[in-house]
Amino acid sequence: MSKKIDILGVAVDSITMEEAVDRIETYMDERTGVLIATANAEMILRATHDPDLMQILNQAALVVPDGAGTVWAAHHLGEEMPERVAGYDLAQRLMKDAPAQHRRIFFFGSAPGVAEKAKAKAERLYPGIEIVGTRNGFFSESDVPAIVEQIRSAKPDLLLVALGVPKQEKWLQKHLSELEVPVSIGVGGTLDVMAGVMKRAPRWMQKAKLEWLFRGMMQPKRAGRLMALPKFVLKVHGYKSSRSHGA
Ligand code: UDP
Repeated sequence: MSKKIDILGVAVDSITMEEAVDRIETYMDERTGVLIATANAEMILRATHDPDLMQILNQAALVVPDGAGTVWAAHHLGEEMPERVAGYDLAQRLMKDAPAQHRRIFFFGSAPGVAEKAKAKAERLYPGIEIVGTRNGFFSESDVPAIVEQIRSAKPDLLLVALGVPKQEKWLQKHLSELEVPVSIGVGGTLDVMAGVMKRAPRWMQKAKLEWLFRGMMQPKRAGRLMALPKFVLKVHGYKSSRSHGA
């Protein structure tokens, strides 16, 4: 068990990439049926005014520190996270190990055609990988039973769900028990990046901890999301002083 660090009320695991991969592979071996979340600043900020999301995150088997904002917040609150564990990188690490461990993987989410492209990419990158099903993420409530059945009957060990935050976490929480999948992870834009629909920030920007800025620039429609980071920083400052005053 790793230590949990409270960031604005969300208990985030203080964990390295390798430890996260080990934990997830153990959950797959044990066929536990768990939900895993990758918490960046935007997700944590959203949880502060979305009690359902907050509860889901605090009940999740593992909440990895996704993004420089989360690692910074822990530090500012007097705790240390060993490193950031980005959802995209975590998904790639699990896929890399999958062929040798005979893990079956399902991609659910993103626009029509994207999950299939991501599957083709995974098959090129990780020879022997078994992507046992794909389903796009645009559906109505009446499609849900068929989607659940499609996933169940594909019998994946690992389900990657890319519906965006908080839809992916809420959908998973609601359907986790019927899905009977050992491990499910909400992965946001991962399938888009794999399919080449969206680019990841260049390495130098990732290293300079500017991935959030790149994402805002690439998606001008959602430039408003850039405000999440300064809002998060302010909230963490406030959280620190309220805690130090015993509130
Ligand atoms: N998406 C989806 N169904 C929806 C809304 C979004 O499948 O109803 C997909 C969208 O196509 C994209 C992903 O969810 O692939 C959201 O990615 P985003 O980068 O917004 O993730 P976040 O930043 O929310 O983690």
